Amino acid sequence: MDVTAQLVYFYPIAIIATVIFVVGLLWHLHVWVSGRVGHAPPRSRVANLGPALGAGLRAALRPSSLGGLLQDALLQRAILRRGGLRWAVHLCIMWSFVWLFVVGSLGNMLAERGLVDLQKDTPWFAISNEVAGLLLLIGLGIAAYRRYVSRPVQLALLTTWEDGLILGWLALLSVSGFVLEAVRFLDAGVPADVATYSLVGFGLSTLLRPLGADWTALYVPVWWIHGLGALVLVAYLPFSKLLHMVGTPLSLLGRIDQPHPAAYAEQPSVPGTDRFGAKLLLQMDACTRCGECVSWCESYAHQSSRFVAPAEKIKGYKPILKRGVVPSVLSGLFGSTDKQRLRELSQGIYECTLCARCAQACPAGISLRELWFSMREDMVARGIYPAGMNLAKDAVATQHNVVNYPNEERAMWVDYMAEAPDDAYQRPRAEVVYFVGCMASFSPAIQSIPESYVQVLTAAGVDFTIMGSEEWCCGFPLLVAGMRSQAESVRRHNVEKIQEIGARMITFTCPSCYNTFVNEYAPHLPGVEMLHSTQLLQRLIDQGKLKLGSLTEKVTYHDPCDLARNSGVYDPPRRVLRSIPGVELVEPADSREHGHCCGGGGDLEIANPELAGSIAVSSLLAFEDTGAGTLVTACQQCKRMFQNAIQQKGSQMKILDVGELVHRALAQNGSEER
Ligand code: SF4
Ligand code: SF4
Repeated sequence: MDVTAQLVYFYPIAIIATVIFVVGLLWHLHVWVSGRVGHAPPRSRVANLGPALGAGLRAALRPSSLGGLLQDALLQRAILRRGGLRWAVHLCIMWSFVWLFVVGSLGNMLAERGLVDLQKDTPWFAISNEVAGLLLLIGLGIAAYRRYVSRPVQLALLTTWEDGLILGWLALLSVSGFVLEAVRFLDAGVPADVATYSLVGFGLSTLLRPLGADWTALYVPVWWIHGLGALVLVAYLPFSKLLHMVGTPLSLLGRIDQPHPAAYAEQPSVPGTDRFGAKLLLQMDACTRCGECVSWCESYAHQSSRFVAPAEKIKGYKPILKRGVVPSVLSGLFGSTDKQRLRELSQGIYECTLCARCAQACPAGISLRELWFSMREDMVARGIYPAGMNLAKDAVATQHNVVNYPNEERAMWVDYMAEAPDDAYQRPRAEVVYFVGCMASFSPAIQSIPESYVQVLTAAGVDFTIMGSEEWCCGFPLLVAGMRSQAESVRRHNVEKIQEIGARMITFTCPSCYNTFVNEYAPHLPGVEMLHSTQLLQRLIDQGKLKLGSLTEKVTYHDPCDLARNSGVYDPPRRVLRSIPGVELVEPADSREHGHCCGGGGDLEIANPELAGSIAVSSLLAFEDTGAGTLVTACQQCKRMFQNAIQQKGSQMKILDVGELVHRALAQNGSEER
């Protein structure tokens, strides 16, 4: 049973496998650093390497990153939230594999060379490897059952031949490990104390013994099957979906919970990895294809095109980017990127509301919303995007609003108010600017939102102004279209006008404007506070500046994506609603981080209005299920989408903005105007 003679062949193969593994990882590092780092303008890979490693190290050393790594990578907290069984399966496979590889194989090899002090035939070594091998087999069995028998929608979509190959391969390694142990026992005998703990290995040897084979001769081929299987897996790892074993911990370590960081930084003019940034390129290799994102994607639920599914967008885009960073002679290895395929991908990328439900669910910590922005920018650079986006771009360029109306009419809604002041809320200087936003300014169906808000601000004694025709689109529709550079001129204009007013605060009833200002304008408006209306209302109520009467309403609250998941504002609207006497707030089954989307985000209404409407109708059902009579939201676009859905469905539900409800409560108290 001496395999020493075999080692002369085994070690060179092990070295080759390790070299392939290292070269594979270096190739991926090469791809990752071909993306820009942070706000830096595009640079060479070599120049990017240092800053990328530095940024990664800084991110990794933050206490929150280390905590996140422990909870999300080592203990798989994100998967635990989705279900105990899935968590147990993933934990079994991951930790058993790590244990068997590091202790059972590597440790054993080093011990045989006398490099570490590890006794093979000891109870702890026997029982730990037996348990790890068994747990690995159980985990693989359940994973195979889910992928091939129970087949939930997301796994039916994402399962490929590679999943079967990897599951089978790991099972082969586990089974061959047990057989190897059994043959060793049969050949060399087994110490009594080890037999007690080697339940599977010893049990198997008892079963095999009647075969009466030449166990000494058999040991070598079984040893080769097991050893070669492990080495081939090591060499294959960087080129397979198993790369996530490296990518996911790095992704979780370097996770930065921020929207797109490039804030009007100089943009590369050509498509490719520069546009993505090193972090996103690394995160694309962290995808485990677990399907969590797919099960939360409301666009995919209504649109069966596979590229709408988040994990499929990643899978589809990776080869396109990787083709761009290899010599053209090798680019064929990454498949075809013909126009038709790019068009299909582009459709999936734009048939998305940018709601970030996928990002919230992703256990690998991939900044998916940020990724969708980069993909859109890349598609615009390639000239493959919905034609409707050009209409929005031209409207903003010529009329300075996304609906293509004369911008002089932006404040016309004030003319329809019963008791507007003579200055129509437009003052040359004010403490606070109320940035109304294109949709509420021009869409009569939702103009009650700004009408209510200006009356509430007046009642609270806030020194504010609106900007009228000097308010230009904030640029959000262009940013989400992937037309970042076209958004710069409107940002410059708005900043200049706000500075002329001398405002110390800007308030918004549109979460998308709020999100854009916080992420894109803030560096250009130092010292200016930015508050969504719900945050300012909460502050005014806490300061006792709004005396609210009783309303007797059972309401449910819809978290607008750009306010909640994408800006982190969850509690202020709820606190405002709970401050109104008589209002009972009931939550839908999925709320806050998991809240439903109205369908109207991410320019989906431009790309596919039918899909946007279908999402609104199905989300409305979840709110109807609460039994509330009124659906309250904090976004003019959401209100518009749900208004249409209510009409389409013939629902009895009412829809209001938080500010409108506050305005009604003020009216009940008789303090609506000062
Ligand atoms: S993107 Fe995240 S959630 Fe989706 S399949 Fe990949 S790892 Fe899973
Ligand atoms: S952002 Fe929303 S719509 Fe877009 S892929 Fe993610 S879950 Fe789907």
